[in-house]
Amino acid sequence: MCGIVAYIGKKDAYPIIIKGLKRLEYRGYDSAGVALFNGDLNVYKKKGKVNDLVSFVKGKNLSGNVGIGHTRWATHGEPNDINAHPHTSDDGRLTIIHNGIIENYATLKEALIKEGHTFTSDTDTEVLVHLIGALQDKDNLELEEAVRIALSQVVGAYAIVVLDRNDPTKLVAARKASPLVLGIGQDEFFLASDATPLVGYTSQVVYLNDEEIAVVSNDGTFEIKTIDNEIQTPFIQLLNMNIEKLEKGNYEHFMLKEIYEQPNTIADCMRGRVNAAAGWLKMGGIEEQEERIFNAKRFIMAACGTSWHAALIGEYLFEELARIPVEVEYASELRYRNPIINKDDVVIALSQSGETADTMAALELAKDKGALIYGIVNSVGSSISRITDSGSYIHAGPEIGVASTKAFTGQVTALTLMAIYMGYKRGTIPKSYYHQLLEGLEKIPAKVKEALECDKQVKELAKKFINTNHTLYLGRGYNFPIALEGALKLKEISYIHAEGYPAAEMKHGPIALIDENMPVVVIATNKSAYEKIVSNIQEVKARKGIVIAIVTKGDEEISKIADYTIEIPDTEEPFTPLLSVIPLQLLSYHIALARGCNVDQPRNLAKSVTVE
Ligand code: GLU
Repeated sequence: MCGIVAYIGKKDAYPIIIKGLKRLEYRGYDSAGVALFNGDLNVYKKKGKVNDLVSFVKGKNLSGNVGIGHTRWATHGEPNDINAHPHTSDDGRLTIIHNGIIENYATLKEALIKEGHTFTSDTDTEVLVHLIGALQDKDNLELEEAVRIALSQVVGAYAIVVLDRNDPTKLVAARKASPLVLGIGQDEFFLASDATPLVGYTSQVVYLNDEEIAVVSNDGTFEIKTIDNEIQTPFIQLLNMNIEKLEKGNYEHFMLKEIYEQPNTIADCMRGRVNAAAGWLKMGGIEEQEERIFNAKRFIMAACGTSWHAALIGEYLFEELARIPVEVEYASELRYRNPIINKDDVVIALSQSGETADTMAALELAKDKGALIYGIVNSVGSSISRITDSGSYIHAGPEIGVASTKAFTGQVTALTLMAIYMGYKRGTIPKSYYHQLLEGLEKIPAKVKEALECDKQVKELAKKFINTNHTLYLGRGYNFPIALEGALKLKEISYIHAEGYPAAEMKHGPIALIDENMPVVVIATNKSAYEKIVSNIQEVKARKGIVIAIVTKGDEEISKIADYTIEIPDTEEPFTPLLSVIPLQLLSYHIALARGCNVDQPRNLAKSVTVE
């Protein structure tokens, strides 16, 4: 959370920083701010979105070839102008932007106040800039040395960039547990929370490692050191990202664009991995560690939010197809509960951004306990992809809408491929079924496209539910996690209370909520438990609930009892989640839009959750 961008070079820093902040706005939009140097240091900050900052700075001095910028997701201190970053030292000499949390800020702040420092904001961040300034003053230190010493006193997570008014020829940046990318141009440098602000300027990037400090100068030189003062040889990588992927194109919202991209993103996830005609399926990540993976006693999947729902589908897939025991854990719980993890376990982390703080910490714990750690990640070069022993990218391209859609189906696709691969190799899937599954898989992108045809119908339906306060989502088997995901999507972007349940659990409590005002979305595509789900629909109807059923094309039975039915194409049962989630994504999108909610930037939320 929080997006940071900085520039030093020969160009005007302001437009580069603003454009970058807009690309990073998915990470937070409580406030935005910039500091620019041109003979003097100008700091502008404003509560609200990057566009509010842009309006605020109109007519002000925005010149300068060096600058830093921030878009905030508040952790400490309410979202207002004062708590907005950049923060400044007492004498206004140093400015800082920060993503993360300084956990021992209260102790540091107390000591600094005793030394005579005056604080203006309620943020944890402000202690850092005072501390760096104090260290610099005390021993007349170079900025990078003061930053290094200050960071050795800090507990918590940070990605920071510091600009010194007295030496604006350089920027000092550092990271620990929050991401930071360095872009190297021709006599210019870019620093950002992810690589998107760099696109169009440079394709040479260095992903900073934890506890590394970078000093970039306007003479085109840079140096990376560890916090222990050891010089590092930078690993420069080529960035492979294009501008179209970062823009909305003809779509009104990123979320809608990303929903519609799914036929392609699912195909991209399968590209080079499946060939039904030749009868093969390859998963490089598993092949690299085949022995340990095939001999694993157990898989543990760790994730948060939507990724956790994908992991639940993974549990059904792995156990059904590959007959391997799986446990699914919230990463935030796993990391703090002294779990039993052994050397013969495989811990799979799922994270769109590859930066989720809790997931990262759970992986580190699993690594310490000797388990093999495996990442299913979207962002190439992200922290999780770098610490894992092996993994599979989902290749969904940048996901900018805060509510995850294409990354979810990408994760489910990757898990499906893994389950089939392992099942076949372990002999738990008969050969004929294996080939049937491969053929079925290759048809999925076209079927997702067909599922998207319900858009108009869903848009009309959404109008009936704009004043709803509560909604229930029910599903069985592979579609139980889809019920959870459908409910989460609705909550996230429309602020309607929604709960997902396994359909049979309804009678153990939630059925008490059902009356003529309660919409109940039932995912009723199941083959194996079809009659059971039909009975569950009858139970809802008997209590006058309003049933919206997601059914398989051609289903006649449910359309007779449900109030509304939405059809999706038929497929092999393990693949139904990839289709059944589509109408639910569209339903939440259209309800949110009809309620006037900000679909891409829902209140209180942000993406890439780098705080605990
Ligand atoms: N802790 C800082 C603040 O509240 C940064 C927050 C973040 O990175 O999400 O301003």
